[in-house]
Amino acid sequence: MLAINHYIKNKYVQFFVGCFIVIGILHSLFNELVEKIPSFSPLLFPMLTIFLLVFHLFIASFMAMKYWCDRMRLYLMAFSFAFAGSALLMVGTLSSYPAWLDLYQFDVVNYNDAMIYFTFRHLLMAVLFIVSAVLFALRNRSLSRTFHVAVISGMFIFTALILILAWLYSSNSPLLTLDLVDNETRQYMLLWKKPTNITLIALWVISLATLMSITRVRNLFWIGGNFLCICYIATLAMLFLGGHAEDLSWYRARLFEAVATLLIIFVLLYDVFNLYRESHLKYQQSYQNSIRDPLTRLYNRSYFYDTLNHALRTVKPTEPVSVIVSDLDRFKRINDCYGHLQGDKVLQFVAQLLMDSVRPQDVAARIGGEEFVLLLTHTPPEAARQVAERIRLKLSSFDKASTDGQLPEPITISMGVFTATSKISAEECVGCADKAMYEAKETGRNRVVVFG
Ligand code: GH3
Ligand code: MG
Ligand code: MG
Repeated sequence: MLAINHYIKNKYVQFFVGCFIVIGILHSLFNELVEKIPSFSPLLFPMLTIFLLVFHLFIASFMAMKYWCDRMRLYLMAFSFAFAGSALLMVGTLSSYPAWLDLYQFDVVNYNDAMIYFTFRHLLMAVLFIVSAVLFALRNRSLSRTFHVAVISGMFIFTALILILAWLYSSNSPLLTLDLVDNETRQYMLLWKKPTNITLIALWVISLATLMSITRVRNLFWIGGNFLCICYIATLAMLFLGGHAEDLSWYRARLFEAVATLLIIFVLLYDVFNLYRESHLKYQQSYQNSIRDPLTRLYNRSYFYDTLNHALRTVKPTEPVSVIVSDLDRFKRINDCYGHLQGDKVLQFVAQLLMDSVRPQDVAARIGGEEFVLLLTHTPPEAARQVAERIRLKLSSFDKASTDGQLPEPITISMGVFTATSKISAEECVGCADKAMYEAKETGRNRVVVFG
C-alpha cells in the first residue's frame, strides 16, 4: 500500500499517467469523429496546417521576446528556433498542396514533399529541444555575451541548414532526392518505414529523456514541453503502424500536435498573467513602502504634505481642514530607562492607537522621531479638539499590564489643533498646529490646545 502511495505521489508517474489519459481521450474522440465523418474534406489538412503554423509562429516570437526581457533564459531561444523553423517547414508542407484552394484541383498533393518537410521538421525540433534542455541546465551560470552570440548563431545556422536541405530534397530542386512516399500509389517507401520513422522516434525519445532528466517536469512550462515530445512520439508511432500517405493517422497527428501546441500557448499566457500579477503586487508593495514609515507603518512626512497640499486647495469655511500635531511627553526618558527597542515598541503602540482613532479618509502620519500628525478633512475645530482629547485620554489610560508590556509605564501626549477654513500653505498650517502643541508642552504637557 505504502509503495503504491509512493508511486502515485511521484511526479513522473503522475505526468505519464496524465499524458496517457489525455492521449487516450483524444484518440477516442478522434475515433468517434471518424465514425461520424468517414472521409474528411481534403481542405481540412491544409487548414489544420495553417492553424498550427500560426500557433508555432506565435510561440517562436513569444519565446524570443521573453529571452529579450530576461537574458538568463537562453534556452528559450532554442525553442524559438525550433518553432520558427517548424512554421517555415509547414509553409513547405502547404506548398505540397499546390492547388488546394482551387475547387477542381484541390486533391493534387505531392505526398513525398509533404513527408520530406515533415521529417526535417521533426529532426529540427527534436534536436533543438535537446539543446534547450542542455541550455536550461546552464541557466544559472553567468554566460558571456560571446557565448550567447555563438549559441544563437549556431542554432540559426542549424535551422537554416535544415530548411535548405528540406528544400533541396523536395521536388523544388533536382539536386537531391529522397523517396519517402510513392506519389502514384501513395504507399510509404521502405526508406520512410524503417530508418527514417524509427530514427525520428528514437530522437524524440532521447529528447524526452533529456528534457525530463534535466527539467524534472518542475512546472507547467516543462510539462507542456514534455507533453509535446510524448505527442510527437505517439504521432510517429501511429504513422509507423499505418502504411498509407492518405491514412487517417495524419489527421490524428495534427490533432495531437494542435492540442499539445495549445497547451504550450496556454502555459505562455498563464506565465504572462502571473508576471503581471507579481509585478502589480511588487508595485503595490514598493508604492506602499514609498509613502509609509517603516517602523510604525503610518504615512510618512512627504505623503502627509502632499495630501495636505491637495486638501488645502479646496478648503473653505464650509469644508474646513483640521491638523493635529502631537508629541510624546518625556519620551527620551523611555529610551534612556528601557532602551531604544522598548522605545520603538512605544512608538508602534501609539501609531496603532492613532490609526484606530481616525476615519479611513483621514491621514495619520509620523513626521519626526516621536512626533505625529493627523489630517482630518471636513472637520471643524471643536470636532478636531474632541478627536485629540479622545486620543489623549485613551493613551493615558494604558499601563504596562493593560498593554502586555508594550508600554513599560503609562505615557502621555501633548497635542496642538489647528483648523484651516481659507487658503493657507501646508507649512503655515502645520506651523500653527505646532505652536499650539508647544503651548500644551509649556502649560504642563498631557493636554490639548487649540490654536488661536
Ligand atoms: P518632551 O516632553 O519635551 O517632548 O520630551 P522628550 O523627551 O520627548 O523630548 P525630545 O524631543 O528631546 O526627545 C525625543 C526623543 O525621541 C529623542 C530620541 O532619542 C527619541 N527618538 C526619536 N526617534 C526615535 C525612534 O525612531 N526610536 C526611538 N526608540 N526613539 C526615538
Ligand atoms: Mg517629546
Ligand atoms: Mg519631539
